[in-house]
Amino acid sequence: MSKSVEELTARQALAEVSRLCYQRGYISGTEGNFSIRLADNRILTTPRGVCKGRINESELVLTDLQGNPLDPHSALPSTELKMHLAAYRLRKDIDAVVHAHPTIAVGFTVAGVSLSTPALPEVVCTLGGIPVAPYATPSTDEVVESIEPFVKKCDALMLDHHGALCLGKDIWDAFYKLETVEHQAQTLMVAHLLGGPKPLTSAQISSLMAVRSVYGLTNELDVDYLTEASSK
Ligand SMILES: [Zn+2]
Repeated sequence: MSKSVEELTARQALAEVSRLCYQRGYISGTEGNFSIRLADNRILTTPRGVCKGRINESELVLTDLQGNPLDPHSALPSTELKMHLAAYRLRKDIDAVVHAHPTIAVGFTVAGVSLSTPALPEVVCTLGGIPVAPYATPSTDEVVESIEPFVKKCDALMLDHHGALCLGKDIWDAFYKLETVEHQAQTLMVAHLLGGPKPLTSAQISSLMAVRSVYGLTNELDVDYLTEASSK
């Protein structure tokens, strides 16, 4: 059966983002999984056990909203696809999910250090805080339960001792949020090495929230994670 223009475009973008995540060190080996929700509620996603740094668009898998492959002869999707499906179920406003294991951001969760410290105006404006979902055994339903409260109100979150989950209106939007998470982690790590971050104040955060619309940012942000970590 011939593929629609939408599917062909999605395959190209998903394969490109997968390779970029590998090249930029956000995943290693066969880690990570990425997906796009197509208009007819099909999910296009990365296959299980394949290095995403070498993937091409013909290897991507189509599933239904329960994660069942639509082609019985295709490869299986990632065991972590259920996280993506939960995000699509809970958020009608997003159509792409990126899950990766960015080293420095994950290091913050391993060390138990907050990534929500309001340090960079761009991060405050685009993501708000970056909460950490409680640890859950990867690939189990526990992970879905652990992320649900955060997915409802955040576009980027960390899974404790595991990885990052970023949601977007398209796959590039989700990828850029992953980049922003790791950039925040790198910046905060340097600040910790130099004596500790000095967070933006709650007044500075309020001013940033007021100008978000200037940058075309209209999504709701949960600022509780930020104000808890601000310098008052
Ligand atoms: Zn993972």
